[in-house]
Amino acid sequence: MREMSIAENYRRIREEIPDNVTIVLAGKTRSLEEVEEVIEAGATDIGENYVQEAEAMYDSLGKKAKKVRWHMIGHLQTNKINKALRIFDVMQTVDSLEKASSIDKRVGRMEKQVSVYLEINIGRETTKAGVNPEYEAIENLVREISKFKHLSLEGLMTMGPQSGDPEDSRPYFRKAKGVFERMKALNLSKVKMETLSMGMSNSYRVAIEEGSNMVRLGTVVFGERN
Ligand SMILES: *Cc1c(COP(=O)(O)O)cnc(C)c1O
Repeated sequence: MREMSIAENYRRIREEIPDNVTIVLAGKTRSLEEVEEVIEAGATDIGENYVQEAEAMYDSLGKKAKKVRWHMIGHLQTNKINKALRIFDVMQTVDSLEKASSIDKRVGRMEKQVSVYLEINIGRETTKAGVNPEYEAIENLVREISKFKHLSLEGLMTMGPQSGDPEDSRPYFRKAKGVFERMKALNLSKVKMETLSMGMSNSYRVAIEEGSNMVRLGTVVFGERN
């Protein structure tokens, strides 16, 4: 059988999943041509893990870069925030008040509003970033972040422990959905908690079943990474 192209992979998954679920294409290690192909196929959102790689991609894409929203999905270093803010519309990996504050200060000097998601370390893994899934701590953080003038807190992002079997992720996704719903129920005036970013290539179907409305996909669209 002929291998499907990137454009075909994207369109097939786009048709397979519900319309309310946003697909963020994880662009790490991908070439300019690969990212162009997926944008031409209709991709709306691109995720990048590294500021330097994102800058190179964004600048090489020229006008095409403006057709999509850019998401920071990797660990954000404070000294890279200024550079990051030139490119990203959404910072998905905010996991402390300090980080939120650093972003807010810098956005304040630009004419920009930035959407942020709080990253939750749903499996309490020592190797992963994110806030532990403790309800009160998360609520406090949400309340504090909601006070920043230039940030708009709009969602939660989580990775969940990786394993071969996507069913193993289900309880973690369910737990993340629970945290998300409780944050939403706080009904804070400045917080529009509307996005739950969870699910990757091997787990996106299970994540959507458990309430995700944003999946971050690399391998299933672009193929294996080298
Ligand atoms: C790479 C990456 C993805 C996509 O991973 P795949 O398994 O290739 O779909 C999603 N989220 C984050 C944070 C990533 O770094």
